[in-house]
Amino acid sequence: MVNSRLFKRFISIYSEKNNIQSFKNYYQSLCNWIDSNKKMIGSELISRTYLDKMMSLDLDEYLVDPITNGLCLEKEAKRMIKEYSNIESLLRSIFYTLWDMVTISSDSDCSNCGKDGDLRYIKINNGKVVLECNECGYVQNLDGSKVEEKIENFLPATKSEVELAISNNSMAFS
Ligand SMILES: [Zn+2]
Repeated sequence: MVNSRLFKRFISIYSEKNNIQSFKNYYQSLCNWIDSNKKMIGSELISRTYLDKMMSLDLDEYLVDPITNGLCLEKEAKRMIKEYSNIESLLRSIFYTLWDMVTISSDSDCSNCGKDGDLRYIKINNGKVVLECNECGYVQNLDGSKVEEKIENFLPATKSEVELAISNNSMAFS
């Protein structure tokens, strides 16, 4: 169970029309909820669920068209307002919602689980652009090979970073 005061405030995000008027507003209102309840949630949990990173993204640079990731603003209240076993599972759900709003998906298939079309472009460590399967978490290079290096950190790759990486990858094959 999630603390009821905290959850009530979470639900109220969806009753304020302005919050779900655009993806940018929605992203910010989820971040605002975390930020204004930081004390109750605890900063350790916020960083463990990677939400501190998500909260620090510049939306003008990172926001994508989340409809391609299946997100629909009109349906968000129904999807998100449900019973969560604990605060961490609510935070994870928020993470994936934010993730959908800032990650570009590729049509490639996952070399590990075979799931098609739900690989996300991320940048790891020193900025190398790779693909992460949204289903199983497997990380592969743009050419489908396994990423061998240890992933110390990751962020979504922006549109321009993705375009550059794709053009470099296709040049390597021509
Ligand atoms: Zn996979």
